[in-house]
Amino acid sequence: MIIDDQHYDIIIVGTGAGGGTLAQKLAPTGKRILVLERGDRMPLEEQNRANVDVFQKGRYRSPEQWYDTEGEPFSPQMNYAVGGNTKIYNATLMRMRERDFEAVTYQDGITPEWPIKYADWEPYYTQAEQLYQVHGDQQSDPTEPAHSQAYPYSAIDHPKLMEPIVKLIKAEGLHPTSLPTSLTRREDDPSGDAEVFGIDLALKYDNVTLRTAALVTALHTNPSGTEIKAVQAEIRIDAQTDAQTDAQTNAQTGTGAAADTEIQRETFLFTADIVVLACGAVNSAALMLDSANEKHPDGLANGSSMLGRNLMKHLMTVIIERDATKNDGTFIPSISVNDYYWGDQRGYYDYPMGHIENSGGLLQDLIFAESPPLLSVLARFLPDEGLTRLAKRSIGWWAHTGVLPNPNNRVYWQTKSRYGRPKKKLRYEFTPNNLEAHDRLVYRWMGVLKDMENTGQELRQSTVYPRGESPIQVTGYQCGTARMGTDPATSVLDLNCRTHEIDNLYVVDSSFFPSCASVSPALTVMANALRVGEHLIERVGGSQR
Ligand SMILES: Cc1cc2nc3c(=O)[nH]c(=O)nc-3n(C[C@H](O)[C@H](O)[C@H](O)COP(=O)(O)OP(=O)(O)OC[C@H]3O[C@@H](n4cnc5c(N)ncnc54)[C@H](O)[C@@H]3O)c2cc1C
Repeated sequence: MIIDDQHYDIIIVGTGAGGGTLAQKLAPTGKRILVLERGDRMPLEEQNRANVDVFQKGRYRSPEQWYDTEGEPFSPQMNYAVGGNTKIYNATLMRMRERDFEAVTYQDGITPEWPIKYADWEPYYTQAEQLYQVHGDQQSDPTEPAHSQAYPYSAIDHPKLMEPIVKLIKAEGLHPTSLPTSLTRREDDPSGDAEVFGIDLALKYDNVTLRTAALVTALHTNPSGTEIKAVQAEIRIDAQTDAQTDAQTNAQTGTGAAADTEIQRETFLFTADIVVLACGAVNSAALMLDSANEKHPDGLANGSSMLGRNLMKHLMTVIIERDATKNDGTFIPSISVNDYYWGDQRGYYDYPMGHIENSGGLLQDLIFAESPPLLSVLARFLPDEGLTRLAKRSIGWWAHTGVLPNPNNRVYWQTKSRYGRPKKKLRYEFTPNNLEAHDRLVYRWMGVLKDMENTGQELRQSTVYPRGESPIQVTGYQCGTARMGTDPATSVLDLNCRTHEIDNLYVVDSSFFPSCASVSPALTVMANALRVGEHLIERVGGSQR
């Protein structure tokens, strides 16, 4: 084991929406910051996918297996790379609605009220939209909360083939608006993510060090359990780019220069005044649970027994309109409809139903590639050409519905003995709730599609709309496993996302969500990282360079 002789002010684990954004916020303080990321930089051609390959090879799944409620293994759709899941996300960055922060009555129950309300989130949403260069239009959606500043860029135009469809949606009396989207305005890498707008900006400061291929495996506390003393990581030796550490590694392991081809890992211990986890809701909880010790027998900072519990991800169903106008399969998603967000007056349904957005070209929609039963079965058997043809004659719509927290939905480690040896499995148990609201949204939208087909010439008559709910391996929208709250008996994190029990341990990924709204979570994760960043700057001091 190598003990790094540098002591850091702050260690951040993970470089996605939470970690990448936080690193960028803290970099100008001049404090010594170490960022540990289990993945590598992702090649551009992997990011700009627009190919049938996404259907057939499970290309964007992580190498490990998690185990579902029945104990069945699956490979989660998780992207371990610099930028995390934002490297493969759709870059749709929406604010949660003002009421989403209150106790909302869903058909299946009442969501917990957030301890911080929209008015206090607003400035951080604005900062996050500026940082991530969000292109949007806050005027036309009646559910859009008030903005103190307009989006930094006006909304992108709808692709030509969607323009008549937008008109048809309006003719239905609905309010289609542009999906707020993060764009770099760079041709080689158009989608805005936490590598481009987070880590790369942070690395412009020489007080920030990034170590890739650095899998954090344990956190060690002091004997009284009140502070994290060391962060343990397995680092792939050939991935170390820091000359000083290479020299140190070579001296200590006697391996000479790091081997080019052979993958060797070395265990490192790093120390810092403050440790921030941003591994994603499942992996941060798993790491804290796995780091249990005498003072924290059920996992770090888990006196409430809430760590790993209340796992949420919104319900998602893709609805396919077949035989639509021919398209190239690669246009970007651009339409958002929130008329059913809080219910359906025409359908006399008073509970929140959720959000509709179009999928964009189906050849680049990774979640669709995992999802629809009809098309995905076809996809397994169709030759590439047939599949491409099918995708190019289809338009996809996503229905998103929020879910309620349930302590029985959770991640935890299960240890079983196999051939006399203990084997650990990460259990990911999620039973969806709020299903009727979601079904109603899906059927309502199919009704709208039918109406549009009857009135518009652009859409051919469909007799059936193939549709499919996102399956278990679609885990990218996870949240809630270390909820934020004022009461240490029922929450893991305080209002600054510091654990109630360990003074220098923070979590800034999507773990902190007390409830899960129908809009996607990434902008709220980014806004929260900026908010927590402000607190950390106050805590550690340091100049703003
Ligand atoms: C295909 C897809 C499309 C999506 N589209 C959208 C969208 O359009 N809009 C939206 O709002 N949301 C979208 N999401 C969800 C969005 O990507 C997540 O909400 C967001 O990235 C969560 O941020 P995070 O910081 O919690 O985790 P992540 O962004 O996943 O970052 C976690 C980071 O931690 C690293 N890590 C994990 N464990 C360790 C460890 N032990 N040691 C070191 N590093 C570790 C990972 O490699 C990763 O870099 C999408 C997700 C997917 C998968």
